[in-house]
Amino acid sequence: MEDKIFDCIVLGGGPAGLSAAMYAARGNVDTAIIDTSSLGGQPVNYLEIENYLGFKSIEGFELAEKFEDHINKFDIQKFTNEEIQKVDLVSEIKSVTTLKNTYKAKTVIIATGASSCKLGIKGEKEYLGKGVSYCAVCDGAFYRDKTVVVIGGGNAAVEEGAYLTKFAKKVYIMHRRNELRADKIVQKRAFGNDKIEFIFDCVPIEIIGDNKRVSKIQYKNLKTDEILELNTDGVFPYIGFCPNIEFFNGQLIQDERGFIMTDENMRTSRFGVFAAGDVRKTPLRQVITAVSDGAIAGVNAVKYLEEIKEAQKQGAMSI
Ligand code: NAP
Repeated sequence: MEDKIFDCIVLGGGPAGLSAAMYAARGNVDTAIIDTSSLGGQPVNYLEIENYLGFKSIEGFELAEKFEDHINKFDIQKFTNEEIQKVDLVSEIKSVTTLKNTYKAKTVIIATGASSCKLGIKGEKEYLGKGVSYCAVCDGAFYRDKTVVVIGGGNAAVEEGAYLTKFAKKVYIMHRRNELRADKIVQKRAFGNDKIEFIFDCVPIEIIGDNKRVSKIQYKNLKTDEILELNTDGVFPYIGFCPNIEFFNGQLIQDERGFIMTDENMRTSRFGVFAAGDVRKTPLRQVITAVSDGAIAGVNAVKYLEEIKEAQKQGAMSI
């Protein structure tokens, strides 16, 4: 594998990456997808998706399966569950080094997505898997007849909070303002759910337990500065997503939160490097926009490869 140079490596196998790979492969480009886990990306953890055109309602896992099934139609090499060590986007030939191999390519499409942002408070790391969870769908069933606190006021917090009422006897949703960010339709459903209680104008300060399990959360009322405590069995932070940029941070122009800056063609600040989906600075992070970004990135990667081939013919470039 060390000597092989792909035309295009797509880093990340979520909706953006799979769409990018499909468009690249349809452009007759030798394409590989590399992912740190299995293919599918974030939708795998979404309970239900109601805003992907063509599907009034579909389980995230099912949509991810359909994406993968579609991709399997093409001759795309897939390297999954790869532990990435290093990514070089600066050299003319880009490379991705994992524990198993070094993969090289003329062009790279970054579609590594974003992961749950961390609260950064005491107890969050310590109680991960012992009462702290970022995935209601994965862990909700452990909270049957228990009390949980969801942090955040966006769609994820309110929807996942509502999902948790299937199991928990009580779900508190703690939000730092007194107005939710979630869509009105999502809010309406939550306000009508009598297992949900909102705690507005408050932020968590510390997650407390007996070293084995979470038992309470300490929080602050931002209006009164009061420090309060609430007994809980679980804490689910849903405060948005942070870009997955660990292995190439600083090699591209990024915004203040680390999201990759691109132009409308998904070109980054480096020739031959494109970005698509949640990892890039974009006004909307949805499956539908990720898929669209991927298509644009894939098409433009093909164009770029044609341009360098042409330039090569004329002896202008060495690739
Ligand atoms: P989001 O919309 O960015 O909301 C994050 C929430 O967390 C906001 O209410 C924010 O408060 C709060 N927050 C941020 N940092 C905080 C901190 N340090 N401490 C306490 N609270 C903090 O993120 P999201 O809900 O994860 O959604 C992300 C994207 O995915 C959105 O575009 C959303 O529509 C989409 N999504 C869609 C679906 C769906 O369509 N089914 C489901 C889930 C997510 P402020 O409001 O004060 O900023």
